[in-house]
Amino acid sequence: MSEAMERPKNVLIVGVGGQGVIMVSKVLAQLSLNHGHDVKQSEVHGMAKRGGGVFSHVRFGPEVWSPTIAEGEADVVVALEWAEGLRWINYLNPETGTFIADCQRIVPPFACRNRFRGGEAAYAPETPEEIMEQVHAGYVLDATGMAERLGNLRAANTVLLGALSTALDFPEDDWLEVIGHFVPPNTIDINIAGFREGREWALAGNKRVAENAAGLHQSHVVIHQDRVTTTVEITEEWCKGCDICVKLCPERCLRLNDRLVAELALPDLCTGCRMCEWLCPDFAIAITNTPVREAAE
Ligand code: SF4
Ligand code: SF4
Repeated sequence: MSEAMERPKNVLIVGVGGQGVIMVSKVLAQLSLNHGHDVKQSEVHGMAKRGGGVFSHVRFGPEVWSPTIAEGEADVVVALEWAEGLRWINYLNPETGTFIADCQRIVPPFACRNRFRGGEAAYAPETPEEIMEQVHAGYVLDATGMAERLGNLRAANTVLLGALSTALDFPEDDWLEVIGHFVPPNTIDINIAGFREGREWALAGNKRVAENAAGLHQSHVVIHQDRVTTTVEITEEWCKGCDICVKLCPERCLRLNDRLVAELALPDLCTGCRMCEWLCPDFAIAITNTPVREAAE
């Protein structure tokens, strides 16, 4: 066995509840076992809803004693959510580590501290480009978007497994075999496609950043009325599609789109009453009413 193989490999997988952190961790642990490694896996589950952090340490090698990875010792950090990745980035080995993150941002509702127009959420301000400059190797990909285009959002974690596979020394077929045991039988094809897409994306170049990794997606609709100009802003990542605004808008001008995100379908009917803004539990809608004279200045 080579000198390099004597030292255990350390992979830290992080995200929020419901994203599949534990599935990613189990696939890697099983794959390592299949290859005859000693494996230690530990995990901490947060709340199984958005905002609850989940992380899992996987260590494998000829002999592994501690189940947890020390700060600065992770060979790979895999983040299923952007800010969670940044929270754990100090665990990455600064000389040799690889940072792999979905650019998906799940902004917890309590991150919305100011509601004025153009205000920032209290969310990690670092850009993927800034982070790529700090790490030895890394990939920030739109795993969720890639999985969505394949037909199943939940395959985002196998897209990330595909990217992870490029940083570890296991054959592609062995990854796919193990993944097949951990995903529902009717989703195997989509998950295989997701794995291959993530793998090919990462193989195309180191320190890659997805084009759409920049920030939150907001729709802006400006409505000109006699006395006021109303701006309706909907932050897609904050909308959980609960339908409250759609049901309670007095003018019935909102709807959920095919991604179950609220959108202003009939802007001409919107009176700027702000009912949707007040009722949205996730602060996803901001209404700004500007008197016409002020808007003209
Ligand atoms: S501001 Fe009032 S009318 Fe306009 S979308 Fe919201 S609830 Fe409906
Ligand atoms: S109330 Fe908020 S979270 Fe619910 S559908 Fe409307 S915008 Fe989305």
